Amino acid sequence: MADDSRRNKTMENIANYINGEMVAPASGEYLDNVDPARGEVYSRVPDSDERDIDKAVAAARQAFPEWSKTPSAQRTKIMLRIADLLEQRIDEFARAECIDNGKPISLARTLDIPRAVANTRFFATSITHFATEAHPIDDTAINYTLRNPRGVAGIISPWNLPLYLFTWKISPALATGNTVVAKPSEITPMTAYMYSRLCIEAGLPPGVLNVVHGQGAKTGAALVAHRDVPTVSFTGGTRTGQSIAIATAPRFKKVSLEMGGKNPNIVFADANLEQALAGSVRASFANQGQVCLCGSRLFVEQSIHDRFLDRFVAMTRKLNVGDPLEDGTDQGAVVSRQHLEKIKGYVELAKQEGGQVLCGGKSPDLINDRCKDGHFFEPTVITGLNTACRVNREEIFGPVVCVIPFKDEQQVIEYANSTDYGLSASIWTNDISRAHRVAANLQSGTVWINAWMIRDLRVPFGGMKSSGVGREGGLESLRFFTEPKNVCVNI
Ligand code: NAD
Repeated sequence: MADDSRRNKTMENIANYINGEMVAPASGEYLDNVDPARGEVYSRVPDSDERDIDKAVAAARQAFPEWSKTPSAQRTKIMLRIADLLEQRIDEFARAECIDNGKPISLARTLDIPRAVANTRFFATSITHFATEAHPIDDTAINYTLRNPRGVAGIISPWNLPLYLFTWKISPALATGNTVVAKPSEITPMTAYMYSRLCIEAGLPPGVLNVVHGQGAKTGAALVAHRDVPTVSFTGGTRTGQSIAIATAPRFKKVSLEMGGKNPNIVFADANLEQALAGSVRASFANQGQVCLCGSRLFVEQSIHDRFLDRFVAMTRKLNVGDPLEDGTDQGAVVSRQHLEKIKGYVELAKQEGGQVLCGGKSPDLINDRCKDGHFFEPTVITGLNTACRVNREEIFGPVVCVIPFKDEQQVIEYANSTDYGLSASIWTNDISRAHRVAANLQSGTVWINAWMIRDLRVPFGGMKSSGVGREGGLESLRFFTEPKNVCVNI
């Protein structure tokens, strides 16, 4: 990694949060952290290794007995303090998320950071409503279930919704009395670092949450394989999920994997077209298409296909690709140079596979001087590809959508289910029976009807097939982070 001493004097070094303190990595080495809108290094991320993970896990183990026995009302109180502090600093965190990730500031301000506040609050309070089951056997015996925290939870989060997903995973772990070692994405570490400082300010006891920054294959791999980490919750790509499944299997760890998607967005001819168009534009391009739930395959019923497509392309062309720090920007930068190259590669592949690019397909002309070296890509609509080609089977995770006509319900169900993924789907129709029928037949962890990405923190969330193992959200998260034990009493 580039390391010029003149630049390092002015550049912020992100610190690990271990045992209640902000500390440098054992190696003293740092990775560059790039602002994708400018294409420039602006801070440095600890390049942590096994030694830092060992220290963090030891701190978390030491903190576990006391934290797990701390009355739940007290855990709630501390977590609510963190949420309040975060809420007071939404603008500061939103700006940091925007610079770190390239997403439009309006999105960070209205979605990412408010959701991080909501995650922290939701799980802080959910523990006060959490009850366990009892199973009486007539009047001879009664079973009751205890649910105890499992120890140190290892948590790994991705770069697309950095603080949003980081808090989605650490909050239920902490609320249920586990202690945590978390590794945020090395591509977007800033807000997890800022959150660590809030935890100190809020009085979270040392060792309860530890945040160790670094590379996946080194820091992340050391965390998930650690013998004293019995629980692993991961959100990220399917290939990484596979390697985590392999690394955790020999120790029979409890593992939750939330992974990639290639989600169908299905528009029937009887849909409210205005609603379907607006929803499909959002589903295709929100966060530059870098949401695991984005509808990257847009299926449109044949009888309205051409009319729908014309309007969809016209609406896509109107999206303002701009400086993420400006309020009017709809589409910011994609997260990195490497990711931009991947997206471009898929557009080239689409052409080789016989697709036509109806709009976008390239980086935009100069946005402004500040962003002249940024990683931008225009929202792109492709047609003419069948469902079997690579572009329609592999996750691109960028502002690229393929539009595919279908003739009837049966055919679109087959098309929708034709990938290895099964994360989410949207159906746009005014036929209520059809909506339920299609929803029941889609291989998908979440189905929205006449909607996209309405998220309720109580519902089970996760994927089927290569999109995930297990569910999180609401009670599912509380159950995941606890160990059930049945106690049977002979009356
Ligand atoms: P990624 O898999 O490359 O990285 C995710 C995290 O895993 C990072 O913190 C990374 O450092 C870490 N990591 C990498 N290799 C590791 C290893 N061998 N052991 C342990 N940790 C390792 O994913 P990404 O590129 O950061 O994120 C994009 C992906 O995440 C997309 O596939 C997207 O669909 C998926 N995603 C899924 C959901 C969901 O809820 N299902 C949500 C958001 C993103």
